[in-house]
Parts: sequence; C-alpha cells; structure tokens
Amino acid sequence: MVLNKKQKIEKDEKLEMMRHSTSHVMAEAVQSMFPDAKFGIGPTIENGFYYDFDLPRSLTPDDLPLIEDKMREIIASNVPFTGEETTKEEARKLFTAQPYKLELIDEIPEDKVTVYRQGSFVDLCRGPHVRSSGEIGAFKLTNIAGAYWRGHERNPMLQRIYGVAFDTEEALAEHLKKLEELETRDHRRLNRQLNLYVTSEEMGAGLIIYGPKAGRIRTVVEDFWRQEHYANGYELLYTPHIGLSKLWERSGHLDFYKENMYSPIDIEGQEYYLKPMNCPFHILAYKSQMRSYRDLPLRWAELGTVYRYERSGVLLGLLRTRGFTQDDAHIICTPEQVEDEIAEVFRFSIQMWQAFGFEKYIVYLSTRPEKAIGTEEQWDQAEEALRKVLDEQDIAYEVDKGGGTFYGPKIDIKIEDALGREWQMTTIQFDFNLPERFDMVYTGVDGREHRPYMIHRALLGAWERFFGLLIEHYGGAFPVWLAPLQVMVIPVADRHLEYACKLEAELRSEGVRVKVDARSERMNLKIREAQLEKIPYMLVVGDQEVTASTISLRLRSGEQLSSQSVDDFKENIKGVIAERANELRL
Ligand SMILES: [Zn+2]
Ligand SMILES: [Zn+2]
Repeated sequence: MVLNKKQKIEKDEKLEMMRHSTSHVMAEAVQSMFPDAKFGIGPTIENGFYYDFDLPRSLTPDDLPLIEDKMREIIASNVPFTGEETTKEEARKLFTAQPYKLELIDEIPEDKVTVYRQGSFVDLCRGPHVRSSGEIGAFKLTNIAGAYWRGHERNPMLQRIYGVAFDTEEALAEHLKKLEELETRDHRRLNRQLNLYVTSEEMGAGLIIYGPKAGRIRTVVEDFWRQEHYANGYELLYTPHIGLSKLWERSGHLDFYKENMYSPIDIEGQEYYLKPMNCPFHILAYKSQMRSYRDLPLRWAELGTVYRYERSGVLLGLLRTRGFTQDDAHIICTPEQVEDEIAEVFRFSIQMWQAFGFEKYIVYLSTRPEKAIGTEEQWDQAEEALRKVLDEQDIAYEVDKGGGTFYGPKIDIKIEDALGREWQMTTIQFDFNLPERFDMVYTGVDGREHRPYMIHRALLGAWERFFGLLIEHYGGAFPVWLAPLQVMVIPVADRHLEYACKLEAELRSEGVRVKVDARSERMNLKIREAQLEKIPYMLVVGDQEVTASTISLRLRSGEQLSSQSVDDFKENIKGVIAERANELRL
C-alpha cells in the first residue's frame, strides 16, 4: 500500500505517540522492579524511545528481558492513559520523591502542569499518548547506556534504556535485522577482522595510523583523486601543518573557531597553531602575486591534514577523529564566473561519488542566517547561483532556510549508503569573509581592483570518515580496484609452488596486487582464510592447472567459477580494475 503525504504524516504521528507511550510503560515496569527509582525524561527518538533512570544499582543486559516481560503484562492489561491538569504546587506534592521531575516543574513558566497516569504510574508529561496500553504494538529494548542528566557533565550520571517500537511484529523484525546488519558492518568491528588501520592508547585518542592495507587503499584513492582533479582543471597545493598566531587572527579563526583549536606551540617566543583548516594558506598563495581577471578562475585543491579539538566523549572510530585529512579545494573567481564554477563543482562531485559506487544522494541548500556578513547583493547573487545550478541539474533539493553559516550560503550533499543511511559528505560553501579579511584582489577588465569570490569545497570530506563510509558501505569487501590485495594464488601442494610464483610474477608485472599463500597448510584452510580476508579472487592451482597453463578461479563469496587460461584471466582482471566495477565476475 502506498500512502499519500497526509496519510504518511498521520501514520508517523501515530507511531510517534505509540513509541512515546511505550516509554511510559517501560518506566512503570522499571518502577515495579525498583520502587525507589528516580525518573529523568522519556522522549521518542528515531524508530523508538528511551527513558533515563537513577537506580540503586547498575543495569545489565540480563535485566532487559525482565523489564520487557513486565511491560508485556502492562500492555496485556490494557490500562488507559489519562491526563489531568494541575497546579505546580500540587504537582510538587505528587513528585516529592522525584528530584529530576521537581527540577522540571520549577522550569515550567505558567502555573499549569499536565500529568499522565496509567495504572499506578504517574508521570509529568504534556502528552499525547495512545488511549490505552493495549494499543502499543511490537517493541524491543535494545540497550543500556550512561547519560548525564540533561547532558551536563557536572550533573549525575543516569542509566538510559533504549527501545524500538513498531506497529507490527514484521516491521520490528525487519528493523532488528537491519540493526544486526549495521553491527556486522560497523567499521570498528570489521577492522578487528581485517586489520586495516590502527588506533593506540599510547599514541592518543582520536588519531589514526593507516596500516599497510589501509595505506594501499588510501594510495589508490588518492592517486585516482589527483588524476581526476588535474583532469578537471584543478592545481594541487601542499601547505604546512602550523601557522603563526597572526595568520589565524587575520583569518578570524582565533575569534570564532578557537575552541576547536589546540593550544599554541611556542617557537622562539612566537605562537604557532596547528591548522584546523587549510584556507588561510591558500589565500597566502593567492596573494603572493598580482592577479588579473585573466588568471581566474583558480581551482586549488589539497589533501590537507588538519587538527581539531574534539572532546574525548564524541570521538568515534574513523568517523570523528582529532587529526584528519580533508580533500579541500578553494575556487577563486570573478562574480561573473561563479555560476559556472558552482555547476562545475557540483557535476564533478557527483561524478566522483559515482566512481565509488554511490548513486543516491540528497542535496540541501542553506541560505542566509539572521546574523551574516557580506552585502545583501552578494548573498542574493550567491544564493541565486546555487539555486540555479540545482534547478538546471533537475535535482530534488531541500532548502534549509537560514541554515547557511554567517559568511555565506552553501550546498551540502548527503550520500546514501548500501544500508540506506545518509552521510553528510560534500560541502560547497561561499565565503564573503576571508576575501575581505585578507584583502584579496584582482585587476578587472576595467583596470581597477576588484574583490574575487571564494568558494570552499570538500568533496569526499575527511579521508578518515570517507574510509569509514567505504568500509561500512562495502561491508569490508572492497571492489577489486580498491582491494588492498586483489588476488591470492593458492597452490594445492608444494610441488605447485613454482607455477604459483610464476603466476604471481606475471600478474604483478601487469599491475595486479597479488600474493602466493606458500604455507604448507591445507588448501581448504587457505581458501577459508582468504575468504575471511575478503580477497576478491583466489586462484587455486594444482596438477591440472600446471599441465594446461590455466587457473581455477574462486570468489570471496565462496562461488567457484570455471577454469580459465592465464592470459584470459590477466585480460579480465585488468578490465575489471580499469572499469572500477563492483562486480567480481570474470
Ligand atoms: Zn508522555
Ligand atoms: Zn576553506
């Protein structure tokens, strides 16, 4: 059944109400297990709900089924949810043993408080809820986490129970299956299996070492990235990791970005800062010469490693790190060129994403916020240019009104991965601020000085995060062109080793990443291990293959293909690599 928009909104609202009501039922169940429980809040979240509790002991995963059982009882008894309005004073009496609720009551501006009851449980809540607990559908409690009361570190740490709820058992089962898939694709988990990158307590949190396999993947991607940038009219820059405080003062970073920067380094009494962004360096390169309209547009890109201060609590594997490399670019152009340049950046971005197998994306246009610098005319022209590009591409986009940064409007591209998750990756951002601060000029056709337009662009974004996306999108089974090792040659017995090594040398000379598993282990074990390593092709060679100069081909899925001549295999795999195809079949 396809729902129209109105029906869909109604259905979403009903689900939302049901999920929230489930959090009340969970709170009642927790109260029956812990009569002294203190309650925080229990809002809905995507696909479900949570509730925060202050309990006499720590919960364990074994508690969740017990709480679920109790919830099922409450649902089966079909008790009504009833709301009533009362005064703050009455409410304070009702919640006298609930310090967190009392805090919330104090903050309600008017003297009117709504409480909801189901059975013996009463909660401070505006509603709405389902009519009675029997209307609650299929649910499951998924995990327990610590959460500071109201998110502040100086407040007590509460225990949060997360749950999901859907209107049918089928919808719940489908969701749980997806969660399981997410977990098996988690890049941190896959990394333990595949040994791609390294983190270390000794080195410090939020920092990444690319091991040989991750290093190989990054090299392949960077080579491709450089080649495509040169082919699309970019020049590449390399800039230092630190810069003098006066540079960051002029750029404004020490005003509006200081909390994201690390403490300065003292060099001969002068303060240097680790760069949180590459832009000021590109601007210095621009200003190193007189520029005329004939020199524009300039498209300057850099794989620039930056360092940003992130609190340890928000660090997350590859996805949020303290040191990362951005695929940054700055486009400096005349106002007349800006529309073409935006269109070009946009086209180039989509082309790059497609090369990595991403076909679905969502585009956002963020416009002028209340507090903004730059003239109205500049904003209008920039927003108009962005809008026009999107309209001409015939692309559906959403406008985030007032969502631009103070220094310019932007286009954000979110990429959808294999599991349907959205990742904010590409940003195309106008900047009215830096050209002004650095007094960037070019000589126009009229012989006078003009201010150029500047566009920041990060296409793949931070390498680390992009790599995390790739790992999860492909589930660690990288397409052949990205796979760190493309072919494992597996001799059946030691007497086939010579043929295997000859094959290895031949393939390597063609640019194929290949290795021989020369260990005196059983063939089946070697095949299984190569599969676990997600190596695209296994060439098994025994008596028959040696005699006929062929190979017997296996895929990492376990599928066995018919044998081919060595020459055919060489041609085939070169084709697959050149096409950057996801498909393994030869
Ligand atoms: Zn409620
Ligand atoms: Zn920039």
